[in-house]
Amino acid sequence: MITVSAYLPEGRPTPGRVAQVPLVLVSRGPAELVTAEVTVRDERGVNLLDPADTGDILVDPSAGGGPLGDTDSDRQARIFGLTNTAYNAQRALRRAAELLGHPLPHLLIRVGLHESPRRWGGGHYRVKARTYDPPETGHALASGEIHLGGGGSYIPAPGGVPYFNAPSHNLAIIYHETGHHVCRHTADFRLNRLRPADEQTNKKIALDEGSCDYLTAILLDSPDIYGWHRSSVPEWDRRRRSLHAGWSMASFQGGMSDPHADGTVWGSACWTARQRVIEAGYDRERFDRMVLRGLELSYTLAQRDEPGMSKQALKLRRYVSRLLEAMLRADPELTGPVLAGMAEHGIRPGESNVALRDADFAARRDALMASS
Ligand SMILES: [Zn+2]
Repeated sequence: MITVSAYLPEGRPTPGRVAQVPLVLVSRGPAELVTAEVTVRDERGVNLLDPADTGDILVDPSAGGGPLGDTDSDRQARIFGLTNTAYNAQRALRRAAELLGHPLPHLLIRVGLHESPRRWGGGHYRVKARTYDPPETGHALASGEIHLGGGGSYIPAPGGVPYFNAPSHNLAIIYHETGHHVCRHTADFRLNRLRPADEQTNKKIALDEGSCDYLTAILLDSPDIYGWHRSSVPEWDRRRRSLHAGWSMASFQGGMSDPHADGTVWGSACWTARQRVIEAGYDRERFDRMVLRGLELSYTLAQRDEPGMSKQALKLRRYVSRLLEAMLRADPELTGPVLAGMAEHGIRPGESNVALRDADFAARRDALMASS
């Protein structure tokens, strides 16, 4: 075991608290750290580590490094990106495994991809497919991998020093993308395990995005998950993706709309349900376990009701009510507080997304008219 530098969550809007944390390494390469749960590799062609060294890796985040600073700062920031991502992805995978009761497949995280035609400050999760959008230079692993950009721009930081928004420094991005790995190997909303391993799909649905945002919130212990790097976006704006902004089914768009935006409805509803579960006297972990086990159970229940990969089977996977029903099956004792929390967002069992949206919209309109 060695000691490495990493951020620990410290509320938002800060990147976190720099800490020295333990990490059990399987191996290290010139730009790679391998642990039992995750491999993190910087792919920008710069040697960052000495593979023969077995010592601790303690570096400063260097405000994310970036093109405007000196070379040494950028190099320190890239090393911090490796240790921070390895520690925090491992933390997310361990928490998910503990809640599920079993481990997830090993996860590869590649840093510094998609650097042209312009720098990239985002991340995405990819499984092996015939084609990719945006295009990839090679194939992703069938079991899934995360790609993180090298950073796109500078953002304001506490103390006034601009911070280069390297995604490998950003806990919200690391946790959210790791969430997609959890979803792929539990709910598998797009039924990828029924497709040939090299012909899976990378299209995400709202429940996937919302579940990843919820997982991010419990790991950060804050509903304002993007409150650091999106602090300039008001909290009422859906692009902020704050889970305590009260998004309800009335704002659910469905169809070809942005699944991240619709996902805020599910993420918000889970956050509220968690509060109601706590108020009813239960541990918050009890609800988190219900969500994770519900994700896993939702696949089995869906395949029981509509086996195979038909259009109808894929359509039912998009229903928020179906995932809620699977959660209630996973822990029936929490039914009361969970239904109460979900109802605040217009979600209840047994209805399609469209029916829930129309009912919630009508209820809110009537309430508004009655109060005016
Ligand atoms: Zn996502």
